[in-house]
Amino acid sequence: MAVRIDGKALAAKIKGQTAAEAARLPRRPGLAVVLVGEDPASQVYVAGKERDCAECGIESFGRRLGAETSQEALLELIRRLNEDPRVDGVLVQLPLPGHLDEQAVINAIAPDKDVDCFHPFNVGRMAVGDPVFLPCTPAGVMAMLDEYEIPIRGKRCVVLGRSNIVGKPMAALLTQRDGTVTICHSQTEDMARHTREADILVSAVGRTGLVTADMVKEGAVVIDVAMNRDENGRLCGDVDFAAVEPKASYITPVPGGVGPMTRACLMRNILAAARLHQA
Ligand code: NAP
Repeated sequence: MAVRIDGKALAAKIKGQTAAEAARLPRRPGLAVVLVGEDPASQVYVAGKERDCAECGIESFGRRLGAETSQEALLELIRRLNEDPRVDGVLVQLPLPGHLDEQAVINAIAPDKDVDCFHPFNVGRMAVGDPVFLPCTPAGVMAMLDEYEIPIRGKRCVVLGRSNIVGKPMAALLTQRDGTVTICHSQTEDMARHTREADILVSAVGRTGLVTADMVKEGAVVIDVAMNRDENGRLCGDVDFAAVEPKASYITPVPGGVGPMTRACLMRNILAAARLHQA
């Protein structure tokens, strides 16, 4: 039976350390969270981030904009936040309403305030192994592997999903730690052939029940990034947890696995930004 990786406990530890270090800075770190529209899931995520900030002694400046906000108005707000000395991090909650150009909005955030690590400058710095910030979800996964002393060097790592925010940076970080990495996506032929070889399997697709027990090697480490809803509206991942848990050596639950770690790593990035600005 696999060891359950306790993301909630590790996240609490990281947030505690972040709060202690934030308290030693001459000025409280600040995060501006921009939410455009009324997407219920985004509202929940933003409220969670604001709660985390309060716990970590980080000031949060919420900016709620109507769904009809123009690209120009949003870019103007970002310009003002980029210049605001109280603001160390600028975070625009995604997805944005369809008429807005997400990449242009990300590009407008000052790289030294890009605490999500989505700006091409920071993605590039991360990709060459000289990061300013680390992308929160992949960094959270790496922190869990390290906390449980799970070796990466020389191991076969398979990442399901190739998004810019999870799959691709996840593969980059595992490669930097000497994993041998395969990325699978919607066009991969015979995905199970790859997953069955994985010592470390990271699923970041967003399809309930995608990873079944026959796709997992005996003793594999299984990390489930996804946050899906099952037919009863309950939060669940991509992995068939009940069937895979007896086969794996380590496994992350959903909820209580990667989700809290992503949020904790965001707090760590805000602290890093504040240090840059207060150096
Ligand atoms: P995304 O942008 O929709 O990317 C999904 C990826 O999965 C794409 O690369 C897609 O391939 C691939 N894919 C789709 N169907 C597939 C299939 N049948 N087999 C293999 N690959 C398939 O999603 P995302 O933003 O990366 O998020 C992925 C999941 O992680 C979602 O459930 C999201 O809610 C969750 N998430 C969780 C956290 C957290 O903190 N826990 C943070 C971020 C995201 P193509 O590239 O070919 O389309």
